[in-house]
Amino acid sequence: MGWKIYGSAIVFLFGLAVGSFDNVAAYRIPEGISLWSPRSFCPRCQSQIAWYDNIPILSFVLLRGRCRRCGEAISFRYPLVELASGLLFLTVFARLGFEWRAELVPHLFLITILIIVSAIDLQRQIIPNRVIYPSIPLGLAAMGVVALARGDVWIILRSLAGLAIGGVPLGLLALLLPRGMGMGDAKLAAFTGIFLGFQQLTALFLAFLTGSLAGIALIVAGRRDRKSRIPFGPFLALGAFLALMFGERIWALYRGLF
Ligand SMILES: [Zn+2]
Repeated sequence: MGWKIYGSAIVFLFGLAVGSFDNVAAYRIPEGISLWSPRSFCPRCQSQIAWYDNIPILSFVLLRGRCRRCGEAISFRYPLVELASGLLFLTVFARLGFEWRAELVPHLFLITILIIVSAIDLQRQIIPNRVIYPSIPLGLAAMGVVALARGDVWIILRSLAGLAIGGVPLGLLALLLPRGMGMGDAKLAAFTGIFLGFQQLTALFLAFLTGSLAGIALIVAGRRDRKSRIPFGPFLALGAFLALMFGERIWALYRGLF
């Protein structure tokens, strides 16, 4: 029991730190700024942020959400993304039975890319190739390591199937209905399929379901006219996360219906 809590704390704190990186990546990658230099700075007074003012969540609370130098308000988005990353990492660890299984690394990698892509897509309505292109071979390599560790070649074959299940139909949709679906969405779906295998079907179903419900809700609330687009990336991310967590249970439920 003791080491379970210890392991959870490590994974949660690691998630907070990665969440801090997610914020940097979501801001810098679309701007074409290097991830590693310069160090984090205040967008208003340009002063560098000291390491002790850059501790996930804690610094935001201690500074009451303001820049130490100029008092500029820091967006709530930053601690929110950090907290989400910490909690999602913890959820993935719990799903693996609080054990250090080979799947942990690829699953945490998946969560990280989903957070970065969702943050960028919500703000800018794009899914940058600069994130997705390197992530696809990295994801395949990580699942390859899992296949080796388990001595099970089916794992990598399922990853390739998932990649095709995600990428091919959405790629065709993006070609035929470019207003409804972007090629970035298709690439993201190819990426998530690597980790989900055949559960990618569940992920796509949940993405389309939640995406349409959100679209209808926004129209009803008068927040959106029928022509404006809402980014689909965050719904693909949500579907992938739910399928990763509950995919098997959802399948069992579905089969129970017939
Ligand atoms: Zn400042």
